[in-house]
Formats: sequence, structure tokens, C-alpha cells
Amino acid sequence: MSQYTKQEQEPASGDIAEVAPGILRLQLPISMPGLGHVNCYALEDGNGFALVDPGLANEESFHHLVTRLDAAGIPIERVHTAIVTHSHPDHFGGVYRLRQVSNCEVLTHQDFRSLFDRREAEQSEDSEDLALASDEDLERMRSRWTRPTPWGGVVEPPPVSELRRFIDQAPQRRRLFALPEPSRTVDDEDVVMFARREWVAVHTPGHTGDHLCLYDPTEGVLLSGDHVLPTITPHISGMVDAPDPLAQFFESLRRMHTLDSVEVVLPAHGQPFADLGGRADAIIAHHLERLDVIRDAADDFPTGTVDDFMKVLFKERSWGSMAASETYAHLEHLLVLGEVGADVDDHGMRTYEFL
Ligand SMILES: [Zn+2]
Repeated sequence: MSQYTKQEQEPASGDIAEVAPGILRLQLPISMPGLGHVNCYALEDGNGFALVDPGLANEESFHHLVTRLDAAGIPIERVHTAIVTHSHPDHFGGVYRLRQVSNCEVLTHQDFRSLFDRREAEQSEDSEDLALASDEDLERMRSRWTRPTPWGGVVEPPPVSELRRFIDQAPQRRRLFALPEPSRTVDDEDVVMFARREWVAVHTPGHTGDHLCLYDPTEGVLLSGDHVLPTITPHISGMVDAPDPLAQFFESLRRMHTLDSVEVVLPAHGQPFADLGGRADAIIAHHLERLDVIRDAADDFPTGTVDDFMKVLFKERSWGSMAASETYAHLEHLLVLGEVGADVDDHGMRTYEFL
């Protein structure tokens, strides 16, 4: 038995596996909460290779990418396209270094670009050289980085000591998180050619607004990114532009049933699996249960804040900004369903009341 309870936590394997016709899987190490690796898929055609989700932006990840490509017999200069499933750093990060070597195209969903513009605008105001900043400077910056949340209260940056460690470890960290600029974007149902066959772009907002899956009806393959993972559910953040990201996620999951020729799902984390519709339903059921947990809490909290309900939904070790934003997404879903009302007090604190 593996010491890891979830496939997605397993450390990156050095093995190169052919997981579908013309598709190799290379695993790259990442260490993020609950994740031990990201799957990078190499799709071969007569012109070279497309790589799906080439890992994090750090040198260690790039080193592993180069080593794995080498083991797979893929000259890195032959990578003509980086396909990025969504705007999270374990998926797009490797693009920057990859492009330096191979000058590849970067393909994303078309909404990726608008996010890029917004982030770039945010970053340009922060031009200080962080590595040279004193503790006092960092303390001052902390208050600037403290952002109000849509539900009241604030998301606080880590304490200065932790920030310092963060900065020392990666002086160019801002670059590590800077979104690459796509050179080619697709919209839902666009058809693209990879691995010598046609793939249909499937826009799957939920985990992020720009999430893209690629569906290959010929061989029955779905590159599912983080949209449908084998044993964990992706984080649903309430801090997005859409009024009800959970409803979007449900819709994107239900849509998996329309991809009826899928025989193998290739997720960004964990092992390939077969039952796409069943897994999508299980993820929907998980969130419906979470909504019921909130409904059941109505006896204790006829009215409550996001923090109140977060403490009902999550174990104490998970409390924090991610748990809060996921709770917020669930409460906003109940609001759209008309089951709760929302009120904002003078301090911007949002409270929900069961109707
Ligand atoms: Zn991911």
C-alpha cells in the first residue's frame, strides 16, 4: 500500500509512460498542499511535440522537464507548442523557460489573456526590488498587500519572517508567478490539431474561469487538467468575476456526459482513469453534500459570516483564506438559489441569513 492516501499526492515518477496513442506522460515534482506532482503530457506529430502543462517555473522543475524529455527521446527544441490548461502556476510556470529554449507557441483558452492583462497591471505598481527591502519596508508593504475580501475581513500576507524566506528562496519570484502571454487562444468548441488528430476545445469554467480541457473524439481521450481529477476535488474559489462559480463548475461537470466517446481521462494530477461521467457525478455529489452541511448548520447559525460557515465546513487545520473563499463560493451559490439572503454591515462584513 502506498503511504499516500491520494494519487495526486504521490511524488513525481521518473518513468515515461505512453498513456494513449501518441501521448507520453512525464511527471514533474511540485510541492503544493495535497499535490506531489503535475502530469506533463507530450503529444507527438510530424512537426515535433506539444507539451500540456509544463510544470512550475523554478529551475528544479525545468531541470526535471529537460531530464524527462531527454529520457523520452524528445529534443527540447522540437517542442512547438505549450498547451496550458489554466492559469495556476503548477500548470503555466514552466512555459517561460521552455519558450526560451524552444520558442514554442503558447496555447490557452481565450480568457487566459484577459487575466494576463489584469495581473500585469497589478504587478506594475509593485516595482521595488524585494530582495533588497528591509524588514521595515516589508512590514510597510504587508499592509499594502492586505486585500479586503468580498465577504468582509481581509486576506493578510504572511508575517515578515516568512515573507523574507519566500523572497530569499526565489529572488525572482514575481517572474515565477507572472502569467505567460498566450500566442494562440481557443474558444469553446474550436478544433486544433495535435498528435496527428483533431482535438475539440472544451471550456470548463469552475476551478478557474479560463479552464480548458481538450477532447479527442478519435481515440477517446480527454486532457482534463484540474477540472476532473481522479481522487480529489479542485479548489473552487469565490474570488472570481463570476457571480456563481460553483454553478459554473456544476455545469462544466455535467457537460462531461456529452463527451461520450471518452475512454481515457488524462488528468493534470494522479493516474489516468476511464469513467469520466461517473467521476464528474461524484465531484458534483461532493459539493451537494457540502451545501447540505451548510444547510444543516442553519440551526446553529440562522445568520452567519463566511468565517462562521467555514468553521462548519472545514476542519480547523484547513481554516484560512482558501477554505474561506471556497465557503464563500458555496454561500453565494445558495444565495443565487434563493435559499439565503445576504447583508453587508457598515464595515463591509457580509452575513448570510437562511430564508
Ligand atoms: Zn493543478
